Amino acid sequence: MIASVLPTYSRAPLTFVKGEGSWLIEADGRRFLDLGAGIAVNALGHAHPALVEVLSTQAQNLWHVSNLYQIPQQQTLADQLVDNSFADTVFFTNSGTESCELAVKMARKYWYEKGHPEKVEILTFEGSFHGRSSAGIAAAGSEKMTKGFGPLLGGFKSLPWGDLEAVKAAISDETCAILVEPVQGEGGIRPMADADLQALRAIADEHNLLLILDEVQCGVGRTGKLFAHEWAGITPDIMMVAKGIGGGFPLGAVLATEEAASGMTAGTHGSTYGGNPLACAVGGKVMEIVAAPAFLDSVRAKAGLLRQRLEGLVADNPEVFEEVRGTGLMLGLKCKAVNIDVVNAGYANEVITVPAADNVIRLLPPLTLSEDEIGEAITRLDAAAKSLG
Ligand SMILES: *Cc1c(COP(=O)(O)O)cnc(C)c1O
Repeated sequence: MIASVLPTYSRAPLTFVKGEGSWLIEADGRRFLDLGAGIAVNALGHAHPALVEVLSTQAQNLWHVSNLYQIPQQQTLADQLVDNSFADTVFFTNSGTESCELAVKMARKYWYEKGHPEKVEILTFEGSFHGRSSAGIAAAGSEKMTKGFGPLLGGFKSLPWGDLEAVKAAISDETCAILVEPVQGEGGIRPMADADLQALRAIADEHNLLLILDEVQCGVGRTGKLFAHEWAGITPDIMMVAKGIGGGFPLGAVLATEEAASGMTAGTHGSTYGGNPLACAVGGKVMEIVAAPAFLDSVRAKAGLLRQRLEGLVADNPEVFEEVRGTGLMLGLKCKAVNIDVVNAGYANEVITVPAADNVIRLLPPLTLSEDEIGEAITRLDAAAKSLG
């Protein structure tokens, strides 16, 4: 008989009943150091007092009204995002995949309204992940995600990762946009070089294409800047956000320039839950904390320390690990052992990591991770590696 929960996930036999900062407590009382943060979601760790307070206060007053009415918490969060980014305007969603849907619709509608209904094709990259909706899987294009779900949403062309010549060669009169993660997450923590992101921006400008960045995983302070593209000194036309922005409450957003958003007039898009008062109250507090320059400084400092310690870990365990990759607190350990075995050895040593493609384990800890916890992380990862040796 089928499980009562549709069996689409392969779950570890772990049941966490409480979270405190960087720690998760299992039903049997064991304390796990959480270097996964719910896949880069719990940006401020678990049960951050400021988030608990803002959520409880909002819960006592108003949960939901729909977008038929004014939502001041949404307005506040939109203003914070606009003030701290390239964007002029924001639409709120509940997830990364919904942000992908709107980004695709927005880019196509832009060209439609400009009198170019033929411009519908979006160039994407192999190894990317943009969510599980029909647009998301078509954008990623991998057989693993798309097989059996045809007919796929058309209008995507997947190109080799970082291959700028392939991008130039793929551009036609039908191309409307380039869609890329500045740091691939699911694809195995693969940062795009700053120079390549700059080149993509230049190609987009030259050929009159929109640049869409998927910062669902790498955004909201994860790389030590509020948004990852800031490292390259470029700005997109449209950007997808989710995961960290809600700190654990389901929330996503699409940020855009006024020009790129110009096709999205009243009635062209909507969401029942998107931007609801609970989610936006929490998101506003996350932004208030994460966007503060001193907080981002602290992320960069911790990221430097963690990276340095991980280089040592790799050097000490050359049979298990091959290299450290990534940026900020979005780090990956490319494994020589099977990555799932390393993740499981981590569980046995009460440390949580997340597998990714390319035989990588991901470290996406809360941005609030302390220096002591970095030491603890290395101790536990080292024990996990030694147990495989
Ligand atoms: C997780 C993720 C998504 C999908 O987000 P969901 O909230 O799971 O729908 C899209 N893009 C990237 C880069 C992601 O990491």
